[in-house]
Amino acid sequence: MERKGSILALSGVVLFLTVAAALALAAGQVLYSRAEADFARKSEVIERSVTAEIERYRVALADVAAAASVPEKVDAAAFADLTEPLTRRRLPGAAAVNLVVAAATADVPTVQRRWRALGDPALRLRPVGAGQHFFSVLSRPLDDRPPRLGVDAAKVPEARDVLLRAQNTGQMAISRAYRLLRDSELPVAEQQLSFVLAAPVARNEPTWVVMAFRGTDFLREAIGLAAGDEADVTLSEFGTSVVTVAEWRPERVDDALPGYETTIDVPQRAWQLDIRPTVSLLPPTGVGLQVTATIIGTVLALVLAVPISVLWIARERAARQVIRATDELRADIHRREQIEHELRMREVELVGFAGVVAHDLRAPLAMVTGYVEVLRDETAGLLTEDHRVFLDRLQAGTHRMHSMLEDLLAYATADSMPLRATEVDLSGLVAEIVGELCAAPSALPPHIQVGEMPRVVGDPTLLRQIFYNLVGNAVKYTEPGAPATVEISAVQQGPSAYRVEIADRGIGIPPDQRAHVFDPFIRVAGSERFPGTGLGLAIVRRVVERHGGRIDVDGNIGGGSRFRFTLPAAPAAPTRTEGPEMAGPSALSSRGHGD
Ligand code: ADP
Repeated sequence: MERKGSILALSGVVLFLTVAAALALAAGQVLYSRAEADFARKSEVIERSVTAEIERYRVALADVAAAASVPEKVDAAAFADLTEPLTRRRLPGAAAVNLVVAAATADVPTVQRRWRALGDPALRLRPVGAGQHFFSVLSRPLDDRPPRLGVDAAKVPEARDVLLRAQNTGQMAISRAYRLLRDSELPVAEQQLSFVLAAPVARNEPTWVVMAFRGTDFLREAIGLAAGDEADVTLSEFGTSVVTVAEWRPERVDDALPGYETTIDVPQRAWQLDIRPTVSLLPPTGVGLQVTATIIGTVLALVLAVPISVLWIARERAARQVIRATDELRADIHRREQIEHELRMREVELVGFAGVVAHDLRAPLAMVTGYVEVLRDETAGLLTEDHRVFLDRLQAGTHRMHSMLEDLLAYATADSMPLRATEVDLSGLVAEIVGELCAAPSALPPHIQVGEMPRVVGDPTLLRQIFYNLVGNAVKYTEPGAPATVEISAVQQGPSAYRVEIADRGIGIPPDQRAHVFDPFIRVAGSERFPGTGLGLAIVRRVVERHGGRIDVDGNIGGGSRFRFTLPAAPAAPTRTEGPEMAGPSALSSRGHGD
């Protein structure tokens, strides 16, 4: 039992912890989902920003290329004019826009001459190796660095490739990432990954306008605003080997959330855009939050688990005590029932024995009584005064004995005698008894008032015993020298019973003795001066109860006793409601009743 209680308490704690942890995880999950949604939105904004920025650069360069195709000759002044709008456009990361021309090694001096005339007179073309060369002959810096002319782009594979691709397709193209020739004089740490946009210009000789960008600067402006410090962005070339074009690395990446990857179409190329959330986007969220929530949940659960376990254990203990007490009570009840049964059996035996004895003693007692009578009659003149007194005492003793035997017999048979129930008119029965009591010799005849009596159902012989004993006691237990005053009445109680009341103005019964006067052989202290056996009320209670009624006694207002008992009403009995009880009183007088 003890063990079961502990297991239950432990199960309660475990259950509680599980629920708390689940709640904590659920809370973490909700916040995690919210952060996930935030990140998805941010990624979308970044993707659109990058796409829109590249498109803006493309359009700007396309305008320059288109403008450069129109005039017959493009010299420094014309180039300055047609690239002038670029300075007004905000093009973050843009380093310069150049006019690039192709030249075979053999043609280099000619080309140089021509472009010295059209542009910078100090132009010096610096071909690298043999073959085809690509020289910047005009330049408009878009940053704060001076223009760099005459450099051969053929020495940079990324630059050469993009120019050829643009030339071959007749379309603008974007290069792979590389370090700008323009930046070659910068310290290595300041050199950024960059790319160029090359647009072919429709002219006699192969010509391009090329715009160079520094990747980090481009991203800082184009993406930095959208990404802020909450996303880490990498633009890389889409292909077998991943080459980073540009990066935006504001803070430490948070690995709790998956990153976002997409492909962006740039002129004749595809870039991969990788966006990953930083710790700023998910400060307390993600796993950190879940762990925090779990810890808080667990601590709360432990704190609550202690009083819950204490309550649980206390409840278990109380339940065990109740069960133990109930078992003891049951055993006690069983023991008492057994004792009661044994007592009842014993009482039945004793009552039976008393009945047999009383019955068997009646005949010899009658004989003794008869011979005493004979002796008194036949020796009337021969006996001395003393002998006569002896005979009187003998006669009184036999009378007392007779009364006792009668009562004993009545008590013994009150329970066992078959109940011959019939409709009984109580007014006749009571009148008979009152008549008998009044006829008994007495110095002060009793004053007995009888109200209207109902018709009831019962055994006439047993009912007679009730009234004979109660009215007899009412007359008997009156102070000597005072006339007995008795009132007998009845009222209807409920639909099928009557309550009969017998009230006297006699010596009364002390309140603490009233409950016991119905037990056999009980006589109230002080009533020894009245003859009696202590069996009358015991007989009365048995008879009343055999008729399904109840009896009790109370004090009479103004002195005396008031006995009340119920009897079943006869079916067609005339009804009377409770109220004034003495209707149509009849007064009879008699001499006192004696046993
Ligand atoms: P008893 O033969 O002694 O009258 P009962 O059983 O009739 O025996 O009465 C039991 C006791 O109750 C009596 O001894 C008496 O003390 C008391 N008692 C009964 N009826 C009355 C009464 N009407 N007034 C006062 N005392 C009574």
